[in-house]
Amino acid sequence: MTEHVLSDIYRIEIPLPNNPLRSLNSYLIKGGDKNLLIDTGFNQPECRAAMDEGLRELGFSMEDTDIFVTHIHGDHSGLVQYLASPQTRVFCDSYTARAFADSPSDYWHYFDQLLVQSGLQGIAHTDHPGYKYKSAAVDSVHIVKDGDLIDVGAYRFRCISTPGHAPDHMCLYEPRHGILFSGDHILGTITPNNALWEQPWTVTRDLLQEYLDSLDKIARLEIKITLPAHREMITDCYRRIQELKDHHQKRLEDILNILGDEKMYGAQVASRMRWDMRGKSWEEFSNAQKIFSTGEALSHLTHLVLQGTLARELMDGLVYYSRVKQ
Ligand SMILES: [Zn+2]
Ligand SMILES: [Zn+2]
Repeated sequence: MTEHVLSDIYRIEIPLPNNPLRSLNSYLIKGGDKNLLIDTGFNQPECRAAMDEGLRELGFSMEDTDIFVTHIHGDHSGLVQYLASPQTRVFCDSYTARAFADSPSDYWHYFDQLLVQSGLQGIAHTDHPGYKYKSAAVDSVHIVKDGDLIDVGAYRFRCISTPGHAPDHMCLYEPRHGILFSGDHILGTITPNNALWEQPWTVTRDLLQEYLDSLDKIARLEIKITLPAHREMITDCYRRIQELKDHHQKRLEDILNILGDEKMYGAQVASRMRWDMRGKSWEEFSNAQKIFSTGEALSHLTHLVLQGTLARELMDGLVYYSRVKQ
């Protein structure tokens, strides 16, 4: 399905089968010499078919189209190698570029250690949709940095680095028209997952704090319309930013209440948090749902450790969290 969104900007809806996100919004911007495609869908037959059909319907060819990848997650990057023609430039940040060049990348090894340390024994990275449906290696990568400009037809986009939802994430901002392509940084009706990716025992990067700082960074821009990678466009992104900040504050309070005076590992905390999974109990969660929920719990637990509210302890290969004694 395709839709004309704004002048020279089109949306191709890419279904994500058996995924609670339902679909991805891939945006196509018509340019002079080169068009730009933002995000792609998983490397799955249904995604490939919808993308091929969308491009055909809109009359675009990948021969004269570049690709911009907002972040490494498979629903955004999975089809890059399939789509890229020899003329296609693939714009992405350095983290995503490393994963494209080094596939399978060593971060899946770290990810398995994360699963063990957080109590998800018996689950492996091969259960992760980002691994199952990832892109094959990509050659023609152009690394973009915060502030870089990309001209497409009448538009001049600025790359805005917004890490947090993923270790690196890039939004595209068009100041003259007040347009923001927000990727998964800001979504309208669903809350972007904020999952840890490194070993819980040694991680020193506070992804949740980076996410909150990235929200403040976007709040300082003049934005009229926000085009997210999932679900409907957002007309009041400032209100949505405040809602997302409030949500994470509430999550942190919930986690402290769950812990009380006890000592728990990541999956234990995740199993007691509230999740919007249509009434399913933790035992009924799929392996992928357990991975995402635990990753989200871990990013909040790590934030509380790095802020000095919680202590972490390694016992029998598991990382336990508890309140710092006053
Ligand atoms: Zn994502
Ligand atoms: Zn996504």
